[in-house]
Amino acid sequence: MKIKPRVSLCPGKLLLLPHNCLIDMKENYRKEELFSPEVIEKLSYHYREILSILGEDPTREGLLKTPERVAKAMAFLTQGYDADPKEILLSAKFKEEYRQMVIVKDIELYSLCEHHMLPFYGKAHVAYIPNGYITGLSKIARVVEAFARRLQVQERLTVQIRDCIQEALNPMGVAVVIEASHMCMQMRGVQKQNSATTTSAFTGVFLSQMRTREEFIHLIGSRLR
Ligand SMILES: [Zn+2]
Repeated sequence: MKIKPRVSLCPGKLLLLPHNCLIDMKENYRKEELFSPEVIEKLSYHYREILSILGEDPTREGLLKTPERVAKAMAFLTQGYDADPKEILLSAKFKEEYRQMVIVKDIELYSLCEHHMLPFYGKAHVAYIPNGYITGLSKIARVVEAFARRLQVQERLTVQIRDCIQEALNPMGVAVVIEASHMCMQMRGVQKQNSATTTSAFTGVFLSQMRTREEFIHLIGSRLR
């Protein structure tokens, strides 16, 4: 199933592409059943131990299937290790002379911070300016997904997405902005409920031309300065 974005050609230059994440989710859910039973069994065993150590009774009814559920959830949340993000882009790389900014904004992302293994979630905005090649639009979202479904820090996630697109398509520039809330800050530690973290990474003309960068920031409609 392919994403059918509403494409609006703004005055001669811009492709604005609202992102629909539902399709990726479906693909991922299909994949959930493919996890190795051996891995799930090992994880379940350890989660049962963890429940006991935390003072719970893993044999009480409500918790009987919890270790297995957690194991499957964690396997799902870290399935990005099995993905090859660069290959995702190369699998849909097309020759095209379009040389204006392509933006995929508001890509939902859910990841796990590698320090606490607690979720961080938010949105990614990705742009590139083609240099002879474009990629399928849904592939950009899938690259975000492939890197997000691992233990991460937001800074590295941002740079990995940028570098992957730069290496696979060799465009004139790549821009990535991620805005995310971190549960490890909200539920524990400083317990700041409303703080969001913004990271950005640029290459090529997004670095060298301030106007191009500003145009991108303006188009993602963000509160960024
Ligand atoms: Zn953390």
